[in-house]
Amino acid sequence: TGKFFVGGNWKCNGSKDSISKLLTDLNSSTLESDVDVVVAPPFIYIDQVKNSLTDRIEIAAQNCWTGKGGAFTGEISAEQLKDIGCKWVVLGHSERRHVIGEDDQFIGKKAAYALSQGLGVMACIGELLEEREAGNTFDVCFQQLKAYADAVPSWDNIVIAYEPVWAIGTGKVATPQQAQEVHVAVRDWLSKNVSAEVASKTRIIYGGSVNGGNCAELAKEEDIDGFLVGGASLKGPEFATIVNSVA
Ligand code: 13P
Repeated sequence: TGKFFVGGNWKCNGSKDSISKLLTDLNSSTLESDVDVVVAPPFIYIDQVKNSLTDRIEIAAQNCWTGKGGAFTGEISAEQLKDIGCKWVVLGHSERRHVIGEDDQFIGKKAAYALSQGLGVMACIGELLEEREAGNTFDVCFQQLKAYADAVPSWDNIVIAYEPVWAIGTGKVATPQQAQEVHVAVRDWLSKNVSAEVASKTRIIYGGSVNGGNCAELAKEEDIDGFLVGGASLKGPEFATIVNSVA
């Protein structure tokens, strides 16, 4: 569905030097033309990335504030992200949900505000291992989806990232069948709760231990419309392999 979409989430990694090297690698890599490619550096390096990265690759932030800037120490507003050249923001990442403690309503508010300022949103969802083992994967994902749906006026600029928490940073990638099954359920939920049009147009990307070796099999699945890549996005050539896995 839609153009293949690959995001690189650098998380809290990198230095001016290591990022400079990564940018050199990304700038010299050959990327399939029919893929949207986005990288999400830590806030403080966005300007460096904007100044040195090819325009072929768009830039995302990894988070933003829920509304207009002001007296919110330590936060970054959607307006500021636009100002430095970001096109996208990652919201609802599992690390922000489960390590930092953000809840569905807070994340929904951020999504709505970011969209209102013209940013695209990579809206993350995904279940914990114990939730999967208890048979609650779909319920958890649907609840997280509902919080986005309740908050946003439109899905035009949203890409859904399904990232099972047990697969993130663990080397335990979901099987293509496991990912496909959830992506179909997500699409079905959108169809029933938003619209058939949104269900068919919205890209649903997979994240969690995606690497150069497992991306091609995953990309073959009908409802896997791209990837959100963590660790492997810190290596330019491997990230290019993942971008080019488009089936
Ligand atoms: P890894 O690819 O390192 O498992 O991280 C996935 C992720 O959380 C991307 O947002």
